[in-house]
Amino acid sequence: MVMNVIASGSSGNCYLLEGEREALVIEAGVRFNTVQRAIEYRTHKISGLLVTHEHLDHSKYIDQFVRRGIDVYANQETMAKVFITLKAKACHKNGMFHLLKENEVEKIGKFFVQPFKVEHDVPCYGFYIIHPECGNIVFITDFFRCDYNFPCVNHWVVEANFSKVLLYNNLEKEVLPPFFGNRLTRSHMEINHACNFLSSQDLSDSETITLIHLSSQNSNEVLFEEKVKRATGVPVKIAKPGALIFFQPKN
Ligand SMILES: [Zn+2]
Ligand SMILES: [Zn+2]
Repeated sequence: MVMNVIASGSSGNCYLLEGEREALVIEAGVRFNTVQRAIEYRTHKISGLLVTHEHLDHSKYIDQFVRRGIDVYANQETMAKVFITLKAKACHKNGMFHLLKENEVEKIGKFFVQPFKVEHDVPCYGFYIIHPECGNIVFITDFFRCDYNFPCVNHWVVEANFSKVLLYNNLEKEVLPPFFGNRLTRSHMEINHACNFLSSQDLSDSETITLIHLSSQNSNEVLFEEKVKRATGVPVKIAKPGALIFFQPKN
């Protein structure tokens, strides 16, 4: 299984988990034709689209996926936003929308997906994903807190948005407006918190950690990679657009 990072960050998010015969799209923050190109036009492989929450960098293009016949899995709040467009409403009648509920497992092709709540500034889900070709994945974006301990995780895909030091420097230099700091600390994941979150987990089965949704102004990929590697001892990758990250099942 390969995870193709199509886009990651506040200007748009989309991750393609592509296996031998099927694929799962996570987040609809890019146009459908961008995904089409990434999957080399084998769109019949797409088993579904998972969306974590309503913010547009994750949900903006859901209607384009719906129009192409892709089943969408999202929470109530995200659905409510999408239903504002009449065309999406028509698709709902055809049963293409699937409401995600906390801890209720959805089977999407051969993917088993269990949503769990994480703390963001709107309702947001993380996903525990199981597939025979990749083992167990935990996917969490846009959060400032998550109190769960996850068992038997082979691959982590986790937000590391900003560094407090870089944020305070930017606030001091007035590169960012003063309210920005407050919003960020109560909605997104700080790098030291990401290290604490990951190192408090059982990492004995973990093979990769991919850091996603890095802030363009308040992050430093080299530093983040190094910090998380040091805190966890697990190989770390940064989700740059176009990056291919290989997920093997642990034997
Ligand atoms: Zn976001
Ligand atoms: Zn968000």
